Amino acid sequence: MRKAYYIFNPDTRTYDRVYPTFAQKFFTVLRRIVYYIIFGGLAFLVFYLFVDKPTVQEFENENSQLLAQYRILSERLDEAAAVLKDIQQRDDNLYRVMLNAEPISHSVRNAGYAGTNRYDELLKMDNAELLVETTQKIDLLEKQLYLQIKSFDEITSLEKSAEERLRHIPAIQPISNRDLTRTASGYGYRIDPVYKVTRFHKGMDFTCDMRTPIYATADAVVEFTGWRSGYGYTVVLDHGYDYKTLYAHLADNNFIVKPGQKVVRGEQIALSGNSGKSTGPHLHYEVFVKGRNVNPINYYFMDLDADGYDQMLQMAENHGKIYD
Ligand SMILES: [Zn+2]
Repeated sequence: MRKAYYIFNPDTRTYDRVYPTFAQKFFTVLRRIVYYIIFGGLAFLVFYLFVDKPTVQEFENENSQLLAQYRILSERLDEAAAVLKDIQQRDDNLYRVMLNAEPISHSVRNAGYAGTNRYDELLKMDNAELLVETTQKIDLLEKQLYLQIKSFDEITSLEKSAEERLRHIPAIQPISNRDLTRTASGYGYRIDPVYKVTRFHKGMDFTCDMRTPIYATADAVVEFTGWRSGYGYTVVLDHGYDYKTLYAHLADNNFIVKPGQKVVRGEQIALSGNSGKSTGPHLHYEVFVKGRNVNPINYYFMDLDADGYDQMLQMAENHGKIYD
């Protein structure tokens, strides 16, 4: 349909329908194009005159500033890596050693992303070397930190179980020093006090008055209370972790603890006596590891400092008389 316009005719007081000529339409379009050009040009002029725009020089300055900042960042990453390395060394040489854990190998700690195409995109950019190097540092640092946190988690759990284990290893004397009338005589070959022949003495004797308190030397469950041939009234404690201790020649059958009962280190379990094959009031104390007798002298480490240990060792060695 042709476009039509209506024009008011004052003579006839009606609207006459008119059709624009080609020239009229052409000039209408041309007029609009000119308006657009003028308006666009003005807008550009305003933008050009009043809005600040960077020059090439400014771009270059900004670029070199960014580069400098990038280099500083890279150096600071080196410093962070050095601090982490120090932590790793302490972890491997101190914490992990203390808790019997294998050190984490150098290759595991420093495994990066070499050989992958992880940095390909960066290699296409300007300053590719700096970009790749810095990104590699961040990647490695991230990975090492994660590994370090894992290691500390492991150490925390090891430390807890080590503490638990330590509470179950015999570590004190079964009798208080102030209650000893004479120092113990020791483990090893001794003359039998009754039969007068050389015989292996499987424990340590602590001479003391009758009815002196006897203490559990580590956390344990009471395994046995009762009479044993030669040993007289006896208490055996099972400490778990392959450790057991035995307390013999006790006062009487009236035991302070009973089988199945849990005891903690230092808790009184019995009274000393002179029961069984014994030549005088004393406590005979044995330590077992995996069912075999060991020298109890190595299990007083919480009571004795180095000097006390030497002293006890000497007395136990030189003091030949045992009470069995
Ligand atoms: Zn003995």
